[in-house]
Amino acid sequence: MPVLVMKFGGTSVANLDRIRRAAKRVGVEVAKGYDVIVIVSAMSGETNKLVGLVDDTSPLYDAREYDAIVSSGENVTAGLMALTLQEMDVPARSWQGWQVPLLTTSAHSQARIEEIPTDNLNAKFGEGMRVAVVAGFQGLSPEGRITTLGRGGSDTTAVAFAAAFGAERCDIYTDVDGVYTTDPRISPKARKLDKISFEEMLELASLGAKVLQTRSVELAMRYKVKLRVLSSFEEQSDEAGTLVCDEEEIMESNVVAGVAYSRDEAKMTLLSVADRPGIASIIFGCLSDAGVNVDMIVQNISEDGRTDMTCSLPTDQVARAKQALEQLKTDGGLNYAELVTDDGVAKVSVVGIGMRSQSGVAAKMFKVLSDEGVNIKVITTSEIKISVLIDRKYMELAVQALHDAFELEKV
Ligand code: ASP
Ligand code: MG
Repeated sequence: MPVLVMKFGGTSVANLDRIRRAAKRVGVEVAKGYDVIVIVSAMSGETNKLVGLVDDTSPLYDAREYDAIVSSGENVTAGLMALTLQEMDVPARSWQGWQVPLLTTSAHSQARIEEIPTDNLNAKFGEGMRVAVVAGFQGLSPEGRITTLGRGGSDTTAVAFAAAFGAERCDIYTDVDGVYTTDPRISPKARKLDKISFEEMLELASLGAKVLQTRSVELAMRYKVKLRVLSSFEEQSDEAGTLVCDEEEIMESNVVAGVAYSRDEAKMTLLSVADRPGIASIIFGCLSDAGVNVDMIVQNISEDGRTDMTCSLPTDQVARAKQALEQLKTDGGLNYAELVTDDGVAKVSVVGIGMRSQSGVAAKMFKVLSDEGVNIKVITTSEIKISVLIDRKYMELAVQALHDAFELEKV
């Protein structure tokens, strides 16, 4: 029988009523003839609560025990979902990650999926089980310990199951009804997209549109898993939500698919570093060792053999970055005149595969910002994305103006 993967996020399983509602949706697909693999998150708020308990017990916790504890929220919802389905006369069984087994690396709290053997579940499907309810977010390390896949990891569990079982589709049920051209809380004109390509979704996900864990999109793109994002709170039709799919399946699209933003950015500049081979490697090697996630990087033209190096990073990593670079200077590893930071910036980006074939998008973006009197501090581009760093206080204005200028409210 064809397989469907259905993933329910925390708000969709927040209480027994919602679990019943979700189970009904599963029942509909079973009645259509699918064998269903349901992936569940923990009830909303539950994982945060567990993380809090770990922090309060041991500030320098053992990551193996962290995983043992924070993975437990999903065990509860998996069991409850299986019971609820059984109450509806749907043959269902729950599975924890280790029982499948979902095999991962041993990088606790950030483990990556290595393999999902299909034999155990398939044997049960062969015996008449119609729904396997699998606890998301968790797996088993080569050492035989429980691992977790990073916050939001149930999305990745779902896509990995869809790939392993050759599922017809992977439906991600959440509290929004799809992927929007921008955040509707910022621009009321934001429009739900019927389809979006993997590449665009990957950019939007990593730019902070928190609908899907970025890794789940990477995985879906690699294995060509059709992903659908939809709301578990609305009546569903087969066309509901947003389909994340291969570019070829999208007949026509706007040049720009969406405007994304990331609010808590900071900018850091090293003034007057030597312009010679190895300098960038020293600076960014140092930041990487300090666990700083650098995003944009700009190097100025040099004068008299010296140059300025600017990068962007999350605001909550500024202190760590500063400390590492100041230490580097003290230790004689790098000579610079001054370290200047600005933690009041935000990143705004326009994303669209149409940019590959159409020129003028950057020019238009800069004109729109200039008309609004917004100063651009840093610019970076990729084939399908243009990002700018601006003062945080102009972020909403910039997002709205760009959404209007590129007419994203229109299909
Ligand atoms: N419960 C986990 C979290 O809150 C995993 C997930 O829901 O995707 O991060
Ligand atoms: Mg999530």
